[in-house]
Amino acid sequence: MSVVLSNLIGGEAVPPDNDEWFDDIAPATGDVIARIPRSGPSDVDHAVLAALGAMDGSWGSASTAERAELCDDIAAAIEVRLDEFAELESRDTGKPISFARNVDIPRSIANFRFYAGAVRHDETGFHPMADAINYTVRQPLGAVALITPWNLPLYLLSWKAAAALATGNAIVAKPSELTPCTADALADVIANLGAPAGAFNVVHGYGAEVGQALVEHPDIKAVSFTGGTVTGRRVAATAAPQLKKLSLELGGKNPTIVFADADIDLAVEGAVRAGFSNTGQICLCGSRILVERSIFAEFTDRLVEQVGQMVVGAPDDPNTQVGSLIGPDHRSKVEAYIELARQDGGTIRCGGKRPDLPAPWDGGAFLEPTVITGLDPGCRTATEEIFGPVVTVHPFDSEEEAVGLANAVEYGLAASVWTEDLRRAHRVAATVQAGMVWVNTWLHRDLRVPFGGMKNSGVGREGGRWSLDFFTDQRNICIKL
Ligand code: NAP
Repeated sequence: MSVVLSNLIGGEAVPPDNDEWFDDIAPATGDVIARIPRSGPSDVDHAVLAALGAMDGSWGSASTAERAELCDDIAAAIEVRLDEFAELESRDTGKPISFARNVDIPRSIANFRFYAGAVRHDETGFHPMADAINYTVRQPLGAVALITPWNLPLYLLSWKAAAALATGNAIVAKPSELTPCTADALADVIANLGAPAGAFNVVHGYGAEVGQALVEHPDIKAVSFTGGTVTGRRVAATAAPQLKKLSLELGGKNPTIVFADADIDLAVEGAVRAGFSNTGQICLCGSRILVERSIFAEFTDRLVEQVGQMVVGAPDDPNTQVGSLIGPDHRSKVEAYIELARQDGGTIRCGGKRPDLPAPWDGGAFLEPTVITGLDPGCRTATEEIFGPVVTVHPFDSEEEAVGLANAVEYGLAASVWTEDLRRAHRVAATVQAGMVWVNTWLHRDLRVPFGGMKNSGVGREGGRWSLDFFTDQRNICIKL
C-alpha cells in the first residue's frame, strides 16, 4: 500500500511546485510505502511566507493560554491515533512496534503536554532598582526552521515543534527524507484542529535541496537542527553569516563505564538497553563499554549471553527487540565497521552478520546485535559513531584510565556510569566530558533538564526552559520611577 504525501503550507496539503516525487521505502521489507514530494526552494519560499503570514495574523496575537491549549489539543489528537502513529513510525523506520508504541509516540504526546504546561507556568525576570524597575518579557522569534533526523522522527520533531509553538513561533519543518510519514500525520492532526493557517508548515524533500534552502532563507530567524555532525557543520556554516539563532544536536559515541563495585545485574541490563535500544540508532546509545578489569570477563560473558538472546526480526511482532536498520546503505556502513574491527584483531563475540529471516523481512536491512572485544580503544570502530547495533567492550584498570578512555573521542553527548560508590559517581560525573551523565541508569529523561552535547556533539541546549530561551528573544524593559 503506497500513499502520496503532501507538503503542509498555509494550512493546506499541497503538492510540490515542480510535481516531482521520490519513493519512501520501508527498510524492513524494501517495499515502497509512500511517494514523497521532492520539494525545492520555491516550496520553501511559500512555506516561509505562510509562516510570516501567521505571525502577522491571528497566530501572532494568540495568548499564552491559547498556544498552550493548541499544544494540549495536539497531544490529545495524537493520543487518539496512537496505534496508527506507532504503526506508521515502525513501518517507516523498521523499528520494533513495541518501541514505537511505548517510546516514540507516548514521548511525542508528552512533549506537547510538557510545553503546554511549561509556558503556562513560565516566569520571567523582575529586577527592581532604587529608582527604576526592570521586567523581562519573552517574544517569539518569528518563522523558525526545524530539521530532524530519521531515528526518532516524531519524537524529535515534536520535541522542537511543541516548544516552538508554545512560545508563539511559526514553524517550517523539514523531516528526514527517509522517514516522512509521522510528520505528514502530525500535519494532518494540526490542520484538522483548525490551528491558524501557517503556524505549522511541513516541506518534504532532500536535505541538500529543501533543508539547505530553508537554512539559507533570510526570513528564517532560527534553526533547530538534530542530525549528524558533518551536516551540522554545514548548517552552521550556512546560518552563521546571517546571524540566525542556531541549536545543533549532533552525533555521539557514548561511554558506558562499569566499575567493579557496580550492581552487575543492573549494569549488564543497562548496557544492553543503552547499546541496542532502537537497534543502536539513538544518538545517546552507549556503544563504547568500558569495564573494570577485575569483572571484565564475567561482565562480558553475561553481556554476550543477553545480547545473543535478543529477538531480531519482524518489527510488527510485539516481542521483537531489534528491528531493521534504516536502510541497506546504512547497514553496509555498519558492516564496514564490523569488518574493520575484524581486520584490527577484534573478536566478534556475538552477531556480526545478517539474520536469516523469512519473507517479507528477507528484503530488509537487518543485522544481528553485535558485541566486539579485543580492540584497541583508540581504533576507528571504538571511537567513530557507528549508529547501529554494535558495541565494543574494553577493560580498564583505574578510575583515571576509565575517564581518560571515555574522553578520548571527538564527541561529548552522553555517558552512563555504573557504580555503588557515591563519591566515585560524583567524581566521574564531574570529569567525564558529556552533556548528560546518567548514574546507574540510562536515558532516564526528565523533560525539564537541559539536553545537548559538548565537543562535536553539538552547540546549545534544548529541553525545559532552554528550549523556551532558544525559541524566544528575552527583552528587558527598564522603567525609571
Ligand atoms: P543527517 O544526515 O545529518 O540529517 C539530519 C537532517 O538534516 C535530515 O532531515 C536531513 O535531510 C537534513 N539535511 C541534510 N543535509 C542538509 C543541509 N545541507 N541543510 C539542511 N538540512 C540538511 O542525520 P541523520 O542521518 O538523519 O541522523 C543520524 C544522526 O543524527 C546521527 O549522527 C545521530 O547521532 C544524530 N542525532 C543526534 C541527536 C541529538 O539529540 N544529539 C538525536 C538524534 C540523532 P535528509 O534526510 O533529506 O538528508
